[in-house]
Amino acid sequence: MKKIFAVLLTGVLLVCCGCGAEQAGQVRQIQNVDTAMGTVISQTLYTTGDETETAAEIMELLRKLEEDVLSRRLDTSEVWSLNAAAGSAEGCSLSDPMEEILEGCLEIWEKSDEAFDVTMGPVVSLWDIDSWAAGEKEGMFAPPEEEQLQNALEICGSGSLDIRGNRLYLPDGAQLDLGAVGKGIALDHILAYLREKDEITGAVISLGGSVLTYGQKPDGGCWNVGIANPEDTASNVGILTLEGEWFISTSGDYERYMEVDGIRYHHIIDPATGYPADSGVAGVTILAKDGFLSDALSTACFILGEERGLALAENFGAEALFVGKDGSITMSRGMKAYYHSGK
Ligand code: AMP
Ligand code: MG
Repeated sequence: MKKIFAVLLTGVLLVCCGCGAEQAGQVRQIQNVDTAMGTVISQTLYTTGDETETAAEIMELLRKLEEDVLSRRLDTSEVWSLNAAAGSAEGCSLSDPMEEILEGCLEIWEKSDEAFDVTMGPVVSLWDIDSWAAGEKEGMFAPPEEEQLQNALEICGSGSLDIRGNRLYLPDGAQLDLGAVGKGIALDHILAYLREKDEITGAVISLGGSVLTYGQKPDGGCWNVGIANPEDTASNVGILTLEGEWFISTSGDYERYMEVDGIRYHHIIDPATGYPADSGVAGVTILAKDGFLSDALSTACFILGEERGLALAENFGAEALFVGKDGSITMSRGMKAYYHSGK
């Protein structure tokens, strides 16, 4: 068996950001690389101030979001409490932001023909690709048994998300997994934070496969965000040239996976089968004005494949770029204004 560990910082490569702290007129550049939410966090900040705590505050914001809201593993989080209450007649109280998140997820579930489904927790747990790929598990990886998968699939389905009077009622055994939207939600929080900071004039923040661009560079130039080549994540298949605020999210079969006997088992599961999605796509990048949306759509479009994925992105006013398993590149009409091959 060939065991392959995931490369975390793969989906999107930052291009032309420079390194270390630099001075350009009155604007200083701060670079910071750290880990949170199970991924590598890379920050490039441009500031007119002399404070250095912004990067640390952003890391703190991410860790709190994980601990208090999003984590499935930590018993301090809202998602944990909601899952722990599954099957109880009383349900569990929902915060307003969580209600908004779940309503957003339900909309994408409906419009994606149920491909995007945040109640896939029981099936995601059976595969547990993230732990395997991160090297947290000892021993030999093997796909789950078919019967186990079918049993787990029976308790999945966003149709059973019952939201009433600021409470969520989940059926017995149901488990929410917000892994497909967590990084996008986090980037939405970071954008709100940056907007409060007058001294920050520009920023590029990358959380694994999701990136936020904000403000502008000291020289007024555009942000260049590379789209990773699924075949070789150290290179890219093109560059998006962007001005101001954008969210760029990539989902790919190369982000977290295990390979056995030449078969790649990755972390994005098709609810129709219970197996890793196989739509002919190796990576999808979404460009949008909202972090939640860009992250949700990249996962959904990966499962749906090019044709249905393009229609879904268009439905939400987002741009999409697909890299096929054969290396082909297909994109929405609007994406062409931002993309160049870099060659
Ligand atoms: P992303 O990397 O944003 O595409 O999200 C992948 C993560 O979303 C996985 O690691 C799972 O936690 C979760 N996930 C897997 N399959 C699905 C699905 N069909 N719908 C929603 N979330 C999923
Ligand atoms: Mg996603």
